[in-house]
Amino acid sequence: MQVGACRGAAPRRSCDHAPMTAFHTLPLKPALLASLETLGYATMTPVQEQSLPPMLEGRDVIAQAQTGSGKTAAFGLSLLQSLDADAIRLQVLVLCPTRELADQVSKAIRKLAANIPNVKLLTLCGGMPLGPQLASLTHDPHIVVGTPGRVQEHLKRGSLHGGGIKVLVLDEADRMLDMGFTEAIDDIIGRIAKHHQTLLFSATYPDEIRAVSQRVQKNPAVVTVEAPTEEQPAIEQQFIEVEQASKPDALAQLLAGERGQHALVFCNMRREVDAVAQELDRRGFSALALHGDMDQRDRDEVLVRFANRSCAVLVATDVAARGLDIVALPLVICYDIAHDPDTHTHRIGRTGRAGESGLAITLCTPRERPKAGNIEELLGTPLAWRPLKLSPPRGKTLNLAPMKTLVIDAGRQDKLRPGDILGALTGDAGLQASDIGKIDVFATRAYVAISRALANKALERLRAGKIKGRNFRVRPLA
Ligand code: AMP
Repeated sequence: MQVGACRGAAPRRSCDHAPMTAFHTLPLKPALLASLETLGYATMTPVQEQSLPPMLEGRDVIAQAQTGSGKTAAFGLSLLQSLDADAIRLQVLVLCPTRELADQVSKAIRKLAANIPNVKLLTLCGGMPLGPQLASLTHDPHIVVGTPGRVQEHLKRGSLHGGGIKVLVLDEADRMLDMGFTEAIDDIIGRIAKHHQTLLFSATYPDEIRAVSQRVQKNPAVVTVEAPTEEQPAIEQQFIEVEQASKPDALAQLLAGERGQHALVFCNMRREVDAVAQELDRRGFSALALHGDMDQRDRDEVLVRFANRSCAVLVATDVAARGLDIVALPLVICYDIAHDPDTHTHRIGRTGRAGESGLAITLCTPRERPKAGNIEELLGTPLAWRPLKLSPPRGKTLNLAPMKTLVIDAGRQDKLRPGDILGALTGDAGLQASDIGKIDVFATRAYVAISRALANKALERLRAGKIKGRNFRVRPLA
């Protein structure tokens, strides 16, 4: 099963199999279609696809839309469609939280209006001198884009006339509320034509936004589109049914493959974490345990070694794995199935990061089947069960990590920097930079990963020579 690549109501553009709708299927003015062609927008983004039909019908719309979703073009097209350029009066008011956004929105609307003759748009923001704004308001513009405080001021002064407004847009409404514009917005609404269409765009839907919508909108069409999922990588999930007693063999077999070079194994309990790590170690894997009973220094050391590839398999509890910040783990194995589906989702999210595909395998005893059922329910798709034929143990598997860690008993307090360690190894010790991996410098210690085959040589040389002109104690981490 693939998770993340394209799920649920994900935006259509990220799903290859979903058709994208062309703009010309909408009843748009030819002038707008011409602008879209010039801009190179052929098909609608999900927000546009869902919000344009009700907007063009004249309905109020509340849309959850982030920057980058194409929201500006969505309301821009709709407001230009209903605009009467021959009528010289203010017809559209777009309120934005900041001047930067107002400038951006103005620019986008101007581009869309490029083929409609004589459209007059004005940007009115706070922080700008009032004089020039007043001068440009001697004739009413068709469209005003601005920040609430300044627009309110012009309406109060009578330099702006709201009686003919047909469309009010609240862009990034959540930010406007955060910035304390609620009162100004309410006051503005009290000063413009009673009957108008209200289009509300917001990245989030807190209760305050719902309250504003209830106050200022009539039976709005609600549009929600998930945030773009392009960055979510594909995760393949597999489920394997095994007896409890066979779990160590199953785990060792799964880790013996290529992906086992960097894998995270989850157990439900601390004592199981230790037992599984020891069993893997006994079988020849570079495996370490990570759980909440360990002191900070040991935890740091384990995390450093897993991240610098000198530990191939990390066995952890859910809580301990939270501090783990490693991109693109190729394999996650749930040795025990998680007690609840949300924990399971967090676990499998550890693989397939940063655009790399990942594999998540869950071992499940017949008794644990009901938990698998809960996960299936959450996912809404059948789980992919696969058989695992256990082969007889082949003695020690020897699945060693590609690197080995040396620890230097000096750190930031000794003014030691990664470059000093690199310099000592590539200079006197004669190693190539490509043999040296991650270098982590802590307050009083530093860790350096070396290609496993060269680790002893590096250790000897570092002990014989100096780092930054000084002799520090250096030792390998077993
Ligand atoms: P916005 O979410 O309004 O900030 O728009 C994000 C970006 O998407 C802008 O640079 C638009 O020019 C662009 N854009 C908007 N609609 C489309 C579309 N249908 N096709 C391609 N690009 C678009």
